[in-house]
Amino acid sequence: MPLEFLKRRPEKTQVEPVGREPVPEEIAAEEFAVRLHYSGKSSEGVRMKAGPNAMRELPGMLFGLAKEEVEVVEPLPIEFAEATPFIQRPSEAMQWLNAHHAHSPITRHALVVLETIDAIDLAFDTFVCSLLHGEIDTSGYPEYNAIVGGVASHWDEATGDMIVRAVVGWGGRGVRGDTDRTAQKLLSTLLTNVLASQYAVGLTPIERPVPAAGRGGLVCAHCGFASAHERAFYCPKCGMRLLRG
Ligand SMILES: [Zn+2]
Repeated sequence: MPLEFLKRRPEKTQVEPVGREPVPEEIAAEEFAVRLHYSGKSSEGVRMKAGPNAMRELPGMLFGLAKEEVEVVEPLPIEFAEATPFIQRPSEAMQWLNAHHAHSPITRHALVVLETIDAIDLAFDTFVCSLLHGEIDTSGYPEYNAIVGGVASHWDEATGDMIVRAVVGWGGRGVRGDTDRTAQKLLSTLLTNVLASQYAVGLTPIERPVPAAGRGGLVCAHCGFASAHERAFYCPKCGMRLLRG
């Protein structure tokens, strides 16, 4: 079948000069804008002994603070290495939705806020999350003045210890003056809960592992997790030593 239309070239559109109306010196413009405001806070880290056993402690660290169900978001495997919550980048956004569509609206909101401001990185963080303050709308999504978060943990590249920090976030279309102060109080209570863990050995500065873009691919011999994190010596998911080569 001849594809005649393919041979057809688009006709050149002739731009005719229109009218003789003089261009006004100042044109009228209708303004449009939206202010999106995302904020978050992250505490110092707490070093945990007892290795992977300490993972089971994480949800309990939100005890007394979680206003809704506590959800655990595990590090993302290699097939989700590009996942970002930005709809303008469809393939990254698709990965992100595939990775997180099963989570609650509260957790997805928390991930959007905290990933956008770079407070968590699921290449190596495990994130344990709930609603901590404020209200949700009728669809279950937190209002702009609600505070979400909990704790995030990763494995220290030097020692293999689990490092846990408190992380909170909030935001959307609006701000409230007292949210920052409330968030600071929540962060402090969370950190107290982390330090109260039987495995906690004390505060430590956070040195976040730096994942190499588009690399990774180490597969954990213990749990089968394929890491997107090139530099990891320890499996981001189960905390066991990764074997190279
Ligand atoms: Zn593993």
